[in-house]
Amino acid sequence: MAKQQFKAESKRLLEMMINSIYTQKEIFLRELISNASDAIDKIYYRALTDDQLVFDKSQYYIQVAPDKENRTLTLSDTGIGMSREDLEEHLGVIAKSGSLAFKKENEAQDGHNIIGQFGVGFYSAFMVADTVTVVSRALGSDQAYKWESTGADGYTIEPASKETVGTDIILKIKENTEDDQYDEYLDDYRLKAIIKKYSDFIRYPIKMNVTGR
Ligand code: ADP
Ligand code: MG
Repeated sequence: MAKQQFKAESKRLLEMMINSIYTQKEIFLRELISNASDAIDKIYYRALTDDQLVFDKSQYYIQVAPDKENRTLTLSDTGIGMSREDLEEHLGVIAKSGSLAFKKENEAQDGHNIIGQFGVGFYSAFMVADTVTVVSRALGSDQAYKWESTGADGYTIEPASKETVGTDIILKIKENTEDDQYDEYLDDYRLKAIIKKYSDFIRYPIKMNVTGR
């Protein structure tokens, strides 16, 4: 399948993420959990005005599932999901936020790590993963789509199947190198500590599912 190219702006940010120039790689988890929480919020707010939609709190949660054997970390949410167009629009192009421009400028000036203070978003997944796969089914649709990327050379989108509405993000965690350890992102105690540190305020349950130990 032909790869689609990221927009130039996105590609630059993506390259920074892939090269892991930031020391606080662990913040990828904060970013992905906050996106999952935002996706559930969207259903919650829609339910306030849509009589057809009932927000049953027990159905909405975020799941974090490390699998050491397969070196994957999967984040699942039962949020609003993404259509093919959403995947294209939201994951193919980085949000041009003011904070991002600010961050780039200042980072260039003093090389200081400012990334931890601002949301850097979805692409931070590439700090710890060499392949990122997103399987998502949008609210109101029976069809799911799979977005996949191994980095700056682009991404693919194809139809997929998914039983329920929401999003699964599967990170193929990088191999350890002499300089960088990635195994910790497959360790449930370490993951719990990162979640506690950054995502304690999330108002939906964060469940941990451990396999392949
Ligand atoms: P931001 O959260 O600041 O908008 P991100 O880079 O974190 O930027 O995410 C980009 C967009 O991708 C989000 O705004 C949202 O539309 C979409 N997105 C990312 N993760 C999810 C998810 N788990 N469920 C639904 N949409 C998502
Ligand atoms: Mg975000």
